[in-house]
Amino acid sequence: MTELASHAVSGGNSRGRRHPESAPASRSEFQRDRDRVVHSTAFRRLEYKTQVFVNHEGDLFRTRLTHSIEVAQIARTLARALRLNEDLAEAIALSHDLGHTPFGHAGQDALNACMRDYGGFEHNLQSLRIVELLEERYGAFDGLNLTYETREGILKHCAPKKAQELGELGRRFLDGTQPSLEAQLCNLADEIGYNNHDVDDGLRSGLITVEQLEEVGIWARHVADVRRDFPQISGRRLIHETVRRMINSLAVDLIGQTMKNIAEAGVVSLDDVHRAPPLAAFGVGIHAEHRELKHFLRINLYQHYQVLRMTNKARRIVTDLFGAFKEDPRLLPPQYQEMAKADKPRAIADYIAGMTDRYAIREHRRLFAVGEI
Ligand code: MG
Repeated sequence: MTELASHAVSGGNSRGRRHPESAPASRSEFQRDRDRVVHSTAFRRLEYKTQVFVNHEGDLFRTRLTHSIEVAQIARTLARALRLNEDLAEAIALSHDLGHTPFGHAGQDALNACMRDYGGFEHNLQSLRIVELLEERYGAFDGLNLTYETREGILKHCAPKKAQELGELGRRFLDGTQPSLEAQLCNLADEIGYNNHDVDDGLRSGLITVEQLEEVGIWARHVADVRRDFPQISGRRLIHETVRRMINSLAVDLIGQTMKNIAEAGVVSLDDVHRAPPLAAFGVGIHAEHRELKHFLRINLYQHYQVLRMTNKARRIVTDLFGAFKEDPRLLPPQYQEMAKADKPRAIADYIAGMTDRYAIREHRRLFAVGEI
């Protein structure tokens, strides 16, 4: 194994865990974090949660689980190329979406609206809440007791008021310092992951077409290369070969630009990373292309009328569930009734956020469909 860069997170400069534990026998602390995430309940549920499409719409679309695995793959490649802590990058990537509600952003927006008067709901904070509090797997503590660095990576953004409540973990949102490079890269690996697989899933669903994509620079450039290299290519193979090249070009560009930024900033330690401006970044040209792709997807896929019909329904399901439980918390499963004694809206939000797409649909049917029990 190559030696870690001096500015990488390591066992030596880690701020450790909240509840002290003896060192693992045959793993690094960050491998242990990754393993704990993989064994968690919230991680398993990602299999039945979606980003854009509702889970039961087709078996071929990405779920949050396959998305998280793809992000972890990209993040590990980036970390290894930059001699950063690959295990930490993997642990962050695998946990970055744990707090998502059913039905992707539509679910989160609906739950946030329901929680408006009770502190709001934000999936990123919920991911942290899961690993710090909600997972029940260990005798000695709530949550997974992950290292500070993994939790820092999970918390991608945070409003100043909330940052104050979070103490040490929230400080960087108040004083403008940066998280580890491993965390910064996971953020961008997430973007590379979802933009490219949304192209793939969007094409597969028929909601967007190859012809439409010709207007997007990054697609047009790579698809032209693919057609030049393989004049006979068409259909799925054309799409996959093009998406593959887009992901690769984004990753290669990101590695090159980040290396350059590290060198120019004279960064040699983890403290330097915290104090420097954000170092993980795309080059200017690729950044613009990537933004163009995001814009295309927003207009043509996320706002497609068939997607909007689905998100509208999702919003209604989440809002109905919240309303029913708020009106009568006795409808909650016993564990959540217990939690509701301390904070009713938050217990309801935790319950709903933990649901998979299909569970939420079934629960809605159980509560609202006359003739169902
Ligand atoms: Mg994600």
